[in-house]
Amino acid sequence: MAKKIKFDVPKFRPYPTVPVLKPGVMKGNGPFVAKPDMQEALGFPGELIDDWHDVAIDKMGDLLKKYRSLRVFLDSCVKCGACTDKCHYMIGTNDPKNMPVARQDLFRQVYRRHFTLTGKLFPKLVGAKDLTKDVLDDWYNYFHQCSQCRRCSVFCPYGIDTAEISMAAREILDTVGLGQKYCNEIIPKIYKIGNNLGLPKPALANTLEGLEEDMKDETGIDIKMPLDVEGADILLVTPSADFFAEPHIDGLIGYAKVFHQAGASWTISSYASEAANFGMFIGSYENMRKVSLRVREAALDLKVKRIIFGECGHAWRVAYAFLNTLAGPFDFLDTRYPVPQHICEYTNDLIKKGVIKLDKSANDHRRLTFHDSCNVARATRMGDKPGGQFDIPREVIKACCNYYYDMESYTIKDQTYCCGGGGGLLTDDLLELRVKGALPRMEALKQVVDDHG
Ligand code: SF4
Ligand code: SF4
Repeated sequence: MAKKIKFDVPKFRPYPTVPVLKPGVMKGNGPFVAKPDMQEALGFPGELIDDWHDVAIDKMGDLLKKYRSLRVFLDSCVKCGACTDKCHYMIGTNDPKNMPVARQDLFRQVYRRHFTLTGKLFPKLVGAKDLTKDVLDDWYNYFHQCSQCRRCSVFCPYGIDTAEISMAAREILDTVGLGQKYCNEIIPKIYKIGNNLGLPKPALANTLEGLEEDMKDETGIDIKMPLDVEGADILLVTPSADFFAEPHIDGLIGYAKVFHQAGASWTISSYASEAANFGMFIGSYENMRKVSLRVREAALDLKVKRIIFGECGHAWRVAYAFLNTLAGPFDFLDTRYPVPQHICEYTNDLIKKGVIKLDKSANDHRRLTFHDSCNVARATRMGDKPGGQFDIPREVIKACCNYYYDMESYTIKDQTYCCGGGGGLLTDDLLELRVKGALPRMEALKQVVDDHG
């Protein structure tokens, strides 16, 4: 049985207030560290290497050359303070090191010391610091208290993206042998088996058959969940959580019903049975590419014409923003369709064309709201109009119900609050952080429930 973790759950605030700072309250060892076999499976050293300092600084230099944005972010902060109270982890924990600018400074102080003239000559004057073991430990702890949600960047007048700095820090940590267990244990399962769960093809086939039977019991209709069907028109790539977890599985059942109603020819691939791409969380281009290439290979092997992604915030970010760069070109697909397409875009089109007809009154006993996923909201788009990523999911929900209510405007769309568990933090060894980080989202949810529920 899991050990019960003791911590204070933050109380809902009647009105959002400026938090009282509690320095060091979230100082600690961070999440569980990856074991040597997990690290080595991803091409990283198994444990903290002896010359970690020099290797870390070299890696920082490499990243600064590779990503110009990183250097711009590190050079352009004017300490205006606009981001300080915008991070859900800062709001929920009150630890000042969870202010986005303070999180960046953990990285910036080392950057200044080694990569700027003033930092080399007058370190104290510009807040430059050596990368000591204490600083490295702070990196591990506090860069795993950032869900890479990018909310802070919306409020920064310079658009400084703390998520990119967190990704760079995590990549450096991996490079010196200090990786996070949760992410680094999962990624090799994709290479070995095809999905984060480690669900092999026979188990996946069995799961899908079981879902077909459930749908037959529920509707009396033979709705299929095809697997590895060569020549299907559509390849559905969805997070493997959809194959077993609640309520994710209802999403997958919904996709099958949508495809059935549209008379679509579609398939899931056992080889690329994972939309999630934890390579992004650890900031590793190579791993992100390796995971993405499986989608390309599956599409080629199965000779599909289109690729549709199921719901998953960061998966859609990788798919929408990076898939073509990582694994393209996709010129072998049908050019009449976006590559890739989001299941909400596909579903909304069908609703608008009248292919799917819905009886809204069947949901009259429900009051609905919508949590914009951080990555979808702030790093992607849906459809062909600005803001489509906000409108299309809402249009789909509103087509299903008569009672829809948004949460407070400063907590939705591009200002959406993280659920607390994104960015590779959805692990029980970070439960306290997740509960505390969920505070502003839960407050907004409570308010909409109190007002309309
Ligand atoms: S990216 Fe999100 S989690 Fe990270 S510092 Fe900014 S607001 Fe906080
Ligand atoms: S809002 Fe931007 S410029 Fe201002 S302190 Fe934060 S990161 Fe620096």
